[in-house]
Amino acid sequence: GKGIAVFTSGGDSQGMNAAVRSVVRMGIYLGCKVYFIREGYQGMVDGGSNIVEANWSSVSCIIHKGGTIIGSARCKDFREREGRLKAAKNLVENGITNLVVIGGDGSLTGADLFRQEWPSLLDELLKTNQITAEQREKYKFLQIAGLVGSIDNDFCGTDMTIGTDSALHRIIEAIDAIVSTAYSHQRTFIMEVMGRHCGYLALVAALTSEADYAFVPESPAPDNWQKKLCLKLEQERQAGQRLNIIIVSEGAIDRNGDPITAELVKKVVVDNLHQDTRVTVLGHVQRGGNPSAFDRILGSRMGAEAVMALMEADETTEPCVISLDGNQAVRVPLMECVKQTKAVAQAMADKEWEKAVALRGKS
Ligand code: ADP
Repeated sequence: GKGIAVFTSGGDSQGMNAAVRSVVRMGIYLGCKVYFIREGYQGMVDGGSNIVEANWSSVSCIIHKGGTIIGSARCKDFREREGRLKAAKNLVENGITNLVVIGGDGSLTGADLFRQEWPSLLDELLKTNQITAEQREKYKFLQIAGLVGSIDNDFCGTDMTIGTDSALHRIIEAIDAIVSTAYSHQRTFIMEVMGRHCGYLALVAALTSEADYAFVPESPAPDNWQKKLCLKLEQERQAGQRLNIIIVSEGAIDRNGDPITAELVKKVVVDNLHQDTRVTVLGHVQRGGNPSAFDRILGSRMGAEAVMALMEADETTEPCVISLDGNQAVRVPLMECVKQTKAVAQAMADKEWEKAVALRGKS
C-alpha cells in the first residue's frame, strides 16, 4: 500500500484530532501504511522517533480532545532548503510519498513549495548518496492534500475552518457567564476575542450574544466612533437595559489603521459615561476545551476526503485543499486558495477594506 503521513502544523485548533483519526482510519481501511509526523515540520526535518507508523487503536479516544495529540510547531528549518532536504530524506526512508497537512495558510504554502522542489531534492539526495537510484525512481512523486485548521475562519476557499465552531462555543459560554454578573451590577463589559485579520469570531459572537457594539478589522471604526459608541450605549441604558456588551476583535482598527484595543474602548466609556466598565480578554481559552460536534464531523469528513484525494491522484494532479462548500466536502486547488487568502491580507495591509471583504466573500 501507499505510504501516507499526517501532521499538524502552525496554531492548533479543536477538531484537528478528529481529522488525524479520520486520516489514519481511512488510510488503513484503504490498505495504506499511515504515519504520524510529530511536531509538524520540525518532526519531518528531525525524523527519527518523530515519524512513527500509526495503527487503528493509536487514534482511539482522541476525537473529544482539543488541540492535537501529535503536536504542532512552528519550524524555522523548513523555511530553508537545507531543512526541506532533510525532510525529504526522512520521508523517502519511511516510504512516504503522500502528505496530509493540517494547518493554516503558512503550513499549506510550505507544503506546496516542498512538492515543487521534490524532484530536485531527490536529485540532490541521490547525488550525495543519501538515497539509492531505486529509491529515486520509486518515490519520484509527492502528493499533498491540505486541511485548514484555524479558529479564526480566515481561509479563502472553505466556508468553515476546523476549530472555528468550537471557539465560538467557548466565546459564547464566556459571554453568557459574564452577562449574568454584568446584569446584577449594571456593568459594561468589553470582551476581546481572537482573529488577527478576520473578524468572523467577533461578528458572530456579537450577533449571538445581543452585544451592543462590535469592532472588527474588516470594517474599521469611523473617525467619530467614540461618539457613536457612547450614544448607542446610552440609548440602551435609557431603554431600560441593565448592562452593555462590547465585542472587540484583536485585529480591530480605526480608519487610519491604528489598533482599537479593549483598553482604549474602556477609557472612552469610562471618561464619557462613567459606567462601571470591565475588560475581559478571552485569549487561549478560545482554542481550548473539547471540540464541538460540528468540528468533530468537519474534521472527520475532511480527513476521509483527503485520503480519497491522495488515492485518486496521479503525477498530473495538483495539490488540493479539502474545503466545505455548503454541506459538501470538496477539493479545491491549494495554491489558488492560499493566493487568495494572501491577497485578502495584502488588501487589509493596504487599507483597502472593501476590496478585502470582496475578495474574501468570493470564496
Ligand atoms: P499557519 O500554518 O497557522 O499559517 P505559520 O505561518 O507559522 O502557521 O506556518 C507554520 C509553519 O509552516 C512554519 O513554521 C514553517 O515551518 C512552515 N512555512 C510557512 N510558510 C512557509 C514558506 N513560505 N516556506 C516554507 N515553509 C513555510
